[in-house]
Amino acid sequence: MQVISFDIDGTLEVGDPPGQISLAYVLSAIENGYIVGSCSDRPLSYQKELWKQHNIAMKFTVLKQNLHEVRLKFPKNEYVHIGDTEVDQMMAKGADFEFVHSIDDDVLSYLKALGLSDSSID
Ligand SMILES: [Mg+2]
Repeated sequence: MQVISFDIDGTLEVGDPPGQISLAYVLSAIENGYIVGSCSDRPLSYQKELWKQHNIAMKFTVLKQNLHEVRLKFPKNEYVHIGDTEVDQMMAKGADFEFVHSIDDDVLSYLKALGLSDSSID
């Protein structure tokens, strides 16, 4: 089982600025059995409301400095955080998560390699 943590701003299409990852990928990850959540500087209330609005059942919502808590909540998994800043990278490293840069890395190919897709595009 793999845990996928998504940053919001600059990473997901619903971020400000919008990132290149559509919510279809997020849904695809959930449907494929990944443990999916968001990890952002946005307050938890904002994150929870965002997922409620889009009717997406995230397994976790955390602030960036609390990414390590996800490890405790879902032990013995593989972990990746996807984000667009040095802070994301630093927090991922600190929480012992793999890190994929949502702009500099080929993140869509990474997601496709996990078996995920955006059915409206792919
Ligand atoms: Mg960001």
